[in-house]
Amino acid sequence: MKKYLIWFGIAMLSLLMIFGIYIYIDHIIHTDDSPTIVKDGKDKTKEEYIYKEDLLLLGYSVDEIKIIENKISNTDVKNYLLEKKYDNLTKFATSPYFKAENIERYESYYTKNNEYSFDNIVIYVEIGLDKEFYTDITEITNHDEIDAIVNKYYKLPSNFTPNDLVSIDAKYKKSNYDYTLRQVAVEPLYSMIDAAKKDGIDLWVVSAYRTESTQTSLFNNSKNKDGLEHALLYSAKPGHSEHQLGLAVDLNLANSKAHFEDSKEYAWLKANSYKFGFIERYPKGKEFITGYGFEPWHYRYLGVELATNVYIDGSTYEEYLIKHSK
Ligand SMILES: [Zn+2]
Repeated sequence: MKKYLIWFGIAMLSLLMIFGIYIYIDHIIHTDDSPTIVKDGKDKTKEEYIYKEDLLLLGYSVDEIKIIENKISNTDVKNYLLEKKYDNLTKFATSPYFKAENIERYESYYTKNNEYSFDNIVIYVEIGLDKEFYTDITEITNHDEIDAIVNKYYKLPSNFTPNDLVSIDAKYKKSNYDYTLRQVAVEPLYSMIDAAKKDGIDLWVVSAYRTESTQTSLFNNSKNKDGLEHALLYSAKPGHSEHQLGLAVDLNLANSKAHFEDSKEYAWLKANSYKFGFIERYPKGKEFITGYGFEPWHYRYLGVELATNVYIDGSTYEEYLIKHSK
């Protein structure tokens, strides 16, 4: 009997040992860092970092290489970063919006604008601000979406016309002109103007959808009247206007000299327009980003959710899109 117990004990111990070895091997296999992981939204693989020596030879410090290893994939290092050393690479690379292929542009923009944070340099370059307005233009294809952007880098296809324009009710304007807007924005506009009225604020439409030829005349008139510089600041070139998208309105007055910014109407719009899906599109202090002078009368429809997010973010639509692009 005793003998059996001993054999049984030995058998149990062996089983435990085998089980222990199995657990140990399993642990080793699964703590191996070969699996691909997604880090910072990039296709960073936690494979062995193979460019350490090249980066050392270029003159990066061990600490800098750690940052590069953590933020930039082997592929990006190989494709964009092995030609020369970039002084501020690790500072740009810590921005969540960093793209290795644009490192030359970040460095060059930084030398001319070193008052901006490294994060802002990355955002501004991604917007395209390192290039002159109207010099590197992309034609948009998402013009039917309410989040489409047009600015001095993005334009509409030639002679684009929205196919769901609706006339604005006489109640919301003071002239006989037939103002139109894309259907999606009309009811929200009415709701906004009605809500303002309840608060004792009188709002009315002075400009809405514009055809390409109207925009051409407006730009040329502004240029002839106030000069090219003024026209470029307050008027869009044809194809580049949000009014052509059918998703923008000017309210009460569209004139920088009339100082709408001092009015209670503007204060109300600034605090409330997002609740109806409209954003102040060309705010004060952001002229260098939007490319337009301060236009307190100009509101862009984005839908309540997106307008609210842009409002909370406190940035221009240009910055918002870079920060939230997928
Ligand atoms: Zn406008």
